[in-house]
Amino acid sequence: MPEIVRTFDDLLTAIKRNYVEPDLDLVQRAYDLAVSAHRGEKRLTGDDFIVHPIAVAYKLADMGLNLNVVAAGLLHDVVEDSAVTIEDVQRDFGEDIAGLVASVTKLKKVVYQGVDRYVENMRKMFLAMASDVRVIFIKFADRLHNLQTLYAMPHHKQERMAREVLEIYAPIANRLGMGEMKGELEDLAFQYLQPKEYDWTQRIMSTKVQERGTYTSHLIDQTETILREAGIRDPQIHGRVKRLYSLYKKLKRYGNDSAKIYDLIAIRVVVDDVEDCYAALGAIHQRWVPLPNRIKDYIAQPKPNGYQSLHTTVFCEGGDVAEFQIRTREMHELAEYGVVAHWRYKEMGMAPPKNLRWMEELVQIQKELASKQDFLDQLEVLKIDAFKDRIFVFTPKGDVIDLPEGGTPVDFAYAIHSELGNKCTAARVNERLVNLDTQLTSGDIVEIITDKNRKGPNADWLKFVKTHHARSKIRDMSKRGMRRWFSQVLPRVRKKT
Ligand code: MN
Repeated sequence: MPEIVRTFDDLLTAIKRNYVEPDLDLVQRAYDLAVSAHRGEKRLTGDDFIVHPIAVAYKLADMGLNLNVVAAGLLHDVVEDSAVTIEDVQRDFGEDIAGLVASVTKLKKVVYQGVDRYVENMRKMFLAMASDVRVIFIKFADRLHNLQTLYAMPHHKQERMAREVLEIYAPIANRLGMGEMKGELEDLAFQYLQPKEYDWTQRIMSTKVQERGTYTSHLIDQTETILREAGIRDPQIHGRVKRLYSLYKKLKRYGNDSAKIYDLIAIRVVVDDVEDCYAALGAIHQRWVPLPNRIKDYIAQPKPNGYQSLHTTVFCEGGDVAEFQIRTREMHELAEYGVVAHWRYKEMGMAPPKNLRWMEELVQIQKELASKQDFLDQLEVLKIDAFKDRIFVFTPKGDVIDLPEGGTPVDFAYAIHSELGNKCTAARVNERLVNLDTQLTSGDIVEIITDKNRKGPNADWLKFVKTHHARSKIRDMSKRGMRRWFSQVLPRVRKKT
């Protein structure tokens, strides 16, 4: 999937299209600084580096974020890559833009290194967001463009970046209600992580789209007539093709049987208000018989991320089946852009719609993330699946160690280093001395007390440790200890006999 290379002119055109009286001078100044800072620098694709900040700024302008965010997008790599300092940015562009650039630069140090570092990444992401959710938008736009140019990267980097996107970025985008961003990120990462599965899914998709294309446009025309006859003003109806990664996951759930997937192509109906949503549902059901148990009212009961729509699947002519998604314009915008839409409401000085209040609360909680315990409570609220059955405890220096539920100081010690496990004699949890078999809970600060004369682990520890890692280390050492004991004792025994 080659990227579309955007020029500065494209960016200006997008800004003129999306903004009322934009401060083009600001954008020009940010661009000029970026050009001089990145002069001579190349991307692995062979393009001049400036292509990258332009692409990031373009995406941000396309999302309609305010021009400070767009300018920060142009400047997001200058501090790291050139002699330009954050003080320079502050002097020329003010506190706000400099703050955004500084936060994005800091966030760059967060590199995914496998599951045990995962939590820490999440934490930094969220802490960064607590200070300013706009930093996350810039980071998403940055990552999106890096994914679009990932083909130029060495293979191991492709894999790491794609996995990071799938395991960290996409879930956050989803949690923020940014359906569009989540879908784009997932499909790009999917292509690199599972190229065979990606091709397979794409083949199924194009066959289906070919089969159903004409039929779908016929269905759209019919729906339009039905809704107008029902007195619904100005309905917008279009076909929507499912995203590849979400189709792939669904195919897996349905035993790879694409005939069972009804929402591969869905008809999306966008109307003025909630009454019209229900009226449209009624009109569609009068014309076509709905499938049992397929009517979902996400207007009365929104999804946890605020998503609202009515879904129904109906039998159409010739026994064909089609899914409809019915929503208001406002719901549509929220489903696609989530927190971005929320943020734009605030920018315009309007109260965000009710179903976005959760976002206000989230931002509020994050502002209060002063302590580690707050962060863990927050994780609890977010209920991210990867964290199920895991606890997170801290070293005295604040590093996060994740353990299975019921983990003990011995598991903790071995998770840090085998020698720490082998030599541990006691532990202090939240500054209180505890036994080694104490079950830790999330948020505990654990300090291991060692005895350097200690020969090795105690085989009794096997009765309470929870991690495979600790168990196998203890077994290894016990065996070795046993052998050593035999080698010391046996010669003496022999002598005696
Ligand atoms: Mn970048």
